[in-house]
Amino acid sequence: MTSDPIDRSGLRPRYWETTPLERMTRREWEALCDGCGKCCLNKLEDEETGEVV
Ligand code: SF4
Repeated sequence: MTSDPIDRSGLRPRYWETTPLERMTRREWEALCDGCGKCCLNKLEDEETGEVV
């Protein structure tokens, strides 16, 4: 990966070690993603419509 699409500016250092998921802000939650792409490997396709989620 060459660029990070997630804005991590201003986040507290290592906040994930002290903040439970349910207490994270939306930005903190989104910044947990490291861009590994593994979530993209799990897809569901509707056989009838072809819709992929
Ligand atoms: S699995 Fe998906 S959401 Fe989780 S870190 Fe990897 S890319 Fe981000």
